[in-house]
Amino acid sequence: MVPCMDFETARARLIEHLKTRIKDEQVLAVMARIPRERFVPPEEQHLAYEDRPLPIGLNQTISQPFIIALMTEALELTGKEKVLEIGTGSGYQSAILAGLARRVISVERLPALAEQARKTLDSLGYTNITVHLSKEDTLGWPDEAPYDAIITTAGAPRVPPELLAQLADGGRLVIPVGPRYIQELYKISRHGKMTTLQSLGGCSFVSLIGKGAWEEDF
Ligand code: SAH
Repeated sequence: MVPCMDFETARARLIEHLKTRIKDEQVLAVMARIPRERFVPPEEQHLAYEDRPLPIGLNQTISQPFIIALMTEALELTGKEKVLEIGTGSGYQSAILAGLARRVISVERLPALAEQARKTLDSLGYTNITVHLSKEDTLGWPDEAPYDAIITTAGAPRVPPELLAQLADGGRLVIPVGPRYIQELYKISRHGKMTTLQSLGGCSFVSLIGKGAWEEDF
């Protein structure tokens, strides 16, 4: 077991490293407070503050801190928003969003991950995050739409119209789009019936599975 102080030092170092490319002070401040080691399996904890993705079981990963920071920055959160996350995974991204927005609704398709994420987030005292098990044949969580910001933490073959339909006027959708193993990160802003699309660069995410996305997991 690594003593707590070592995690704190490693976390501070990671934040310094992110500062070279991430300019949003709020995003960095929130990430500086969240214990990433609590969101990864015990055997991965010593790598929790490396700037890389890590396995979280069931062939899924917690994303690389730089990509998480970049995606979060692109959401332009001010503290008032209701945010939808697709792909709860470990719950780490949900915790970051919870520190920057009013409310977070996160959906996960794998029951074991949803359950584990709920436990971790509860143990850390979060009260503004709801983790739902995704419904078959539904992408996102239309029941509470529209959302001021939507983040998809799994790669989609195309921008899913189902998610644009859940985005509020003036809202931002951040999503990796492209072939199965390599995607481009898009920021899509909605202005009435119009949308604008900006690329944030290349990335590699696990697949978004189900309606509006890939058909099955490998
Ligand atoms: N945000 C996570 C990263 C999770 S990896 C974190 O911080 O740890 C992507 C997750 O998306 C996986 O857990 C996968 O099971 C989930 N997923 C894939 N397709 C989904 C869908 N259609 N709805 C909800 N979750 C989905």
